[in-house]
Amino acid sequence: MIAEEMINLGEKKSAIRENFEYGKQRAKQIGKEKVFDFSLGNPNVPAPAGVRRAMEKLLNQKDDVELFGYTPAQGIFETRKAIADNLNFRFGTSFRPDNFYITCGAASGIRIITQALTVPGDEYIIFTPYFPEYKVFVEAAGGKFVEVKTRQEDFQIDFAALEQAITEKTKAVLLNSPNNPSGVIISEENIIWLAALLNERSALYRHTIYLIGDEPYRELVYDNADVPYLTKYYKSTLICYSYSKSLSIPGERIGYVLVPDEVEQSGKVYAAVCGAGRALGYVCAPSLIQQAVAECAGQVADLSVYKNNRDLLYHALQTYGYTCICPKGAFYLFVRSLLPDSAAFCRYARKYELLIVPGDEFGCPGYVRIAYCVPVSQIERALPWFKKLAEACITTQASEL
Ligand code: PLP
Repeated sequence: MIAEEMINLGEKKSAIRENFEYGKQRAKQIGKEKVFDFSLGNPNVPAPAGVRRAMEKLLNQKDDVELFGYTPAQGIFETRKAIADNLNFRFGTSFRPDNFYITCGAASGIRIITQALTVPGDEYIIFTPYFPEYKVFVEAAGGKFVEVKTRQEDFQIDFAALEQAITEKTKAVLLNSPNNPSGVIISEENIIWLAALLNERSALYRHTIYLIGDEPYRELVYDNADVPYLTKYYKSTLICYSYSKSLSIPGERIGYVLVPDEVEQSGKVYAAVCGAGRALGYVCAPSLIQQAVAECAGQVADLSVYKNNRDLLYHALQTYGYTCICPKGAFYLFVRSLLPDSAAFCRYARKYELLIVPGDEFGCPGYVRIAYCVPVSQIERALPWFKKLAEACITTQASEL
């Protein structure tokens, strides 16, 4: 017998991956330039020059054992120190290197945290729309995935819905801001309310409800928007971070879990994070990139490309009749489907060679995600097709399509 659930996970492709693979096939048939793939959140800007410089310096100065050997299980001290120094400088916090556990990106960070915290019966609250892999991570850790709808008009927290969803079984609330797929930044007012509610319920149920911040898009913000630093608002906050987007190095698989001293039972939580890293086989994140991060923890890739793309696509789509909230961060537009069934709408969009992902995947039927981390020329070529798609949907009955 082989684990049925794992077979299902392995065989069932996400709509994002399915689109991406379809796009590759289609490009072979009709040419890359004619396929408009907006399915994957794969950064398309170069890493800041400092990353390559740091790598070259390391390759020139260190021997192979120093470069490619195992690192300490929780990550290299100098890397953790550089990260702590950078955050303390930016947010006025007082983190120590020992508050950090270096991970292979945010994905393994979330997986580690959920594994570290979960005991049978635990529930995790996730706001819609959400990164689809959360469900996989929470359930793999043995937790129950509890979806809570956000406000339809702005995707901010719906506190009436949240108050109902939090129970004595709630282990943690997971917050992703800036959000994939909506691009929304949760407001400071919401975070203050959330912290008050979590404090109240933790006291009522006599156990801590943790707040988990998943922040791979923290630096990808536009129009000088502020992303409140969660640990300053709620004591028992754990952070998952990734350099995939800020340094534009997703293939290098590097990020961290942060367990601040203020967290309830922080020593035990940190030990459990180390234990979960061990149990999952995630110890010693890749060495060379850890050493490079120690040199460039505070750098950020050139985000002007994304801002330009956002402005171009957002304004054009609006004039064609699409509706969507103007994203303040990340690199996605979360657009209302022009057909009642967003999966049908995405299938229909393929007739125009537009590859977009149904919102159902993100817990939000009726929407589609458009990832605009693509060359601007792709957006320019795709715009007339987005226009035709809208005209077809708006003027034709869905049943006739
Ligand atoms: N969390 C969110 C919200 C994401 O969008 C992603 C990736 O796109 C991840 C986590 C995983 O990122 P990483 O590449 O760091 O594993």
